[in-house]
Amino acid sequence: MTNTSRRLIVGNWKMNGLTADLAEIEKVAWNIGELRADVVICPPATLLQAAARITAGSRLLLGAQDCSPQEGGAYTGDISARMIADCRARIVILRHSERRQYQGETDAIVRRKAETALRAGLIPVICVGETEAEHLRQETLAVLKNQLQGCLPAETMETGLVIAYEPVWSIGTGRVPDQSEILSAHARIRTSLIDAFGSVGAGLRILYGGSVKPENSAEILSLENVDGVLVGGASLRAESFLQICEATRT
Ligand code: PEP
Repeated sequence: MTNTSRRLIVGNWKMNGLTADLAEIEKVAWNIGELRADVVICPPATLLQAAARITAGSRLLLGAQDCSPQEGGAYTGDISARMIADCRARIVILRHSERRQYQGETDAIVRRKAETALRAGLIPVICVGETEAEHLRQETLAVLKNQLQGCLPAETMETGLVIAYEPVWSIGTGRVPDQSEILSAHARIRTSLIDAFGSVGAGLRILYGGSVKPENSAEILSLENVDGVLVGGASLRAESFLQICEATRT
């Protein structure tokens, strides 16, 4: 997982998935081919232990969708990074726009979450991206720079971290930025990573997320500085998620 030359495909199930849906995770686990990519599914926390059991020995990795900024203790309802690692999950998605919108998460909180995730040996996948209004005002690059300044941890540690460029207006809408917009956003993120972490930043993975489907994944994955994709809706069914994983071969 620390090999940054490998692509990274992450499926975010959001608040979807009951016990019966573990069958989809099982199908992905036992049907991913030998890819030069790490493939991760992030089911709801309630399914992590069971998912770890049915995927043990496969190439599929597991992740969580959030963690507490606290290490542990009297924080009712929260789940710590160490608890997630204890379920054999390897990554944790942080700063998803839905958590910012519905849970009021700030960049200062995200930074603490990222630091506790790194200490637990997890790879934080930190989402950044502009809103529709910011996009229309052509503020994307400045917004990305500010967001990263606000939430990046002081150091990346050995596990490394991942940034996902997720334009808020593209999530779940079927609308995808054009190639030049993805290229310039990812180049901006690369610059911020190098500013923050020097040569280490040049090797960290940057994912694109927002309405990735089997039909557009190969094209998106062919772009410079796109080291993988973060997939929402299309990760819920094994068939479509596996097609996106296969696109890493092109
Ligand atoms: C997401 O939830 O991070 C996401 C990118 O969703 P979708 O692929 O459904 O747009």
